[in-house]
Amino acid sequence: MIDFMTKEQRRRCMSRVRSKGTSPEVFIRKALWHAGFRYRIKSKLPGKPDIVFNKLKVVIFVHGCFWHCHGGCPKSKLPSTRKEFWADKIVTNVKRDEKNITKLKEQGWRVAIIWECSLKNQKSQEQTVNSLKKWIVSNSDRIEMQGSYGG
Ligand SMILES: [Zn+2]
Repeated sequence: MIDFMTKEQRRRCMSRVRSKGTSPEVFIRKALWHAGFRYRIKSKLPGKPDIVFNKLKVVIFVHGCFWHCHGGCPKSKLPSTRKEFWADKIVTNVKRDEKNITKLKEQGWRVAIIWECSLKNQKSQEQTVNSLKKWIVSNSDRIEMQGSYGG
């Protein structure tokens, strides 16, 4: 079926699928796969990274801004009700993230964090995927990607 679609139709269809809940990590996986990158997704490494490149010693986490408390990001704002409940949950997540990333670094892994807000529209998706592709084959041991907001 999909072969009968024009590029534009397909794009619109895909973006509809995405907004209906295709997760950001699936989006990144697909983009990398299309670019020829081959990776593992089931991993027992600390924090269970979303994408792992064993040979390159690279792990990628795709983080939801709310659940992982993206500092300064509008999407990380707590709901107005049950603030303490959410704050507790999120602090636990953040502490766990920090611990896992420290462990990974100690084991010599290079770590990429991709915040969900860096995938908010097609333009930023392209930018994020492009920088990620470059970073994977670079010597840099850390990258963090986020959307631009508030100027
Ligand atoms: Zn964010």
